[in-house]
Amino acid sequence: MKIKPVRGTHDFFGQQVLKYRTIQDLISHYSAIYNFEEIITPIFESTELFKKPLGENSDVVLKEMYTFKDKNEDLLTLRPEYTTPMIRSAISNNLLEKLPKKLYGIGPMFRRERPQKGRYRQFNQINFEILGTHDISADIDLIILANNFLKNLLPQKKINLFINSLGDKNTLSNFRVSLGNYFKQNKEKLTEESQSKIVSNPIRILDSKDPTDIEINLNAPKISDFYSNEAKEKFSNIQTILKDMSVDFSIDMNLVRGLDYYCHTVFEFKTLDLGSQDTLIGGGRYDGLTKLLGGPDIPGVGWAGGIERLIMLMDDIKPLQKTIHLIIINESFKEYGLKVANQLRQKNINIHFDYKYNLKKSLSNANQLGARYAIIIGEEEVKKNLCTLKDLNKNVQEKKTIENIIKDLS
Ligand code: AMP
Repeated sequence: MKIKPVRGTHDFFGQQVLKYRTIQDLISHYSAIYNFEEIITPIFESTELFKKPLGENSDVVLKEMYTFKDKNEDLLTLRPEYTTPMIRSAISNNLLEKLPKKLYGIGPMFRRERPQKGRYRQFNQINFEILGTHDISADIDLIILANNFLKNLLPQKKINLFINSLGDKNTLSNFRVSLGNYFKQNKEKLTEESQSKIVSNPIRILDSKDPTDIEINLNAPKISDFYSNEAKEKFSNIQTILKDMSVDFSIDMNLVRGLDYYCHTVFEFKTLDLGSQDTLIGGGRYDGLTKLLGGPDIPGVGWAGGIERLIMLMDDIKPLQKTIHLIIINESFKEYGLKVANQLRQKNINIHFDYKYNLKKSLSNANQLGARYAIIIGEEEVKKNLCTLKDLNKNVQEKKTIENIIKDLS
């Protein structure tokens, strides 16, 4: 029986694992510099955690959540995003007494989307969140953190930052009504998918990647016409500071983000190298969310980045340390060989043993794997308590004590 991976899932191996670890290390580095604490939450949560905050009419809730009933009829969902579980955890564990709280997390998310390049049903995200401040410095800090992280990870790639403001709650509700009316007037020209959103969630039509929808969106009402003075000022200050800090960005009035909880600043980092699934990092402000989840009435801002898309853009990574090939030329010297390998490994020397007990086969293996050195153990080595260290590049070899080999290789 040959069992295939589940549609929309994938395995990480070889280079992908090296790249995943590199991303993890870089994120640990940035979290330390920017003072974020890691939080690790369960992969499944109560369904109600996601339903209301993400929006009853959002694509994620309507179509994409992996929801199931536990044996005792509890409704559970595999987390489709990390912001709400992180806030839930901060509330459950009383982590919100001293504010602001800066949290980050890395792990798998689950959405039942149509799989394609850069879009999976299980994928990994990095999330950074700052809870408890209205200060636009937090928005700026998070944008700069993402910008620096991407520049460091993908120095050779052109990545564009787009920003927008969704204003406050009044902005959004007035905008929604006006947009709904505009789309009703142009209903026939929209795609079927967008038509179905006119009443339930017209803002999501602005997200459409379909050319016919994009055409209609060009003349749609603009959210900037509905900003309060405060929202206008906030957005303008953010732009001034980003410019002062030499961060390149463009304003995208149609940038609304997929989930219902956003307000004020929203932003996305995009690449031209990945086709339609081009957003690497997306985020924004979600001032009412913590209260909605039963916590204190505090604001929040954060971002999420997709690890699979970053891996697709990374150059191959050379393994840090070349292995040393252990060659035991006859099985009767096995015990001595294993002891030598153990001593070297305890000194953090990377030993590869292929269990072949055949000089010719092992040497050819070592060459294929690109090993620089081999340690050869035969009768004489065992008798004299030595090992032969062979430099495979220079094709020279010498018998040495283990202590001297450790010195040479360290
Ligand atoms: P979102 O939570 O939808 O704002 O997504 C944040 C980031 O996660 C995106 O910019 C992508 O990089 C990544 N992402 C979202 N959905 C998927 C998916 N289905 N497969 C792979 N990456 C994803």
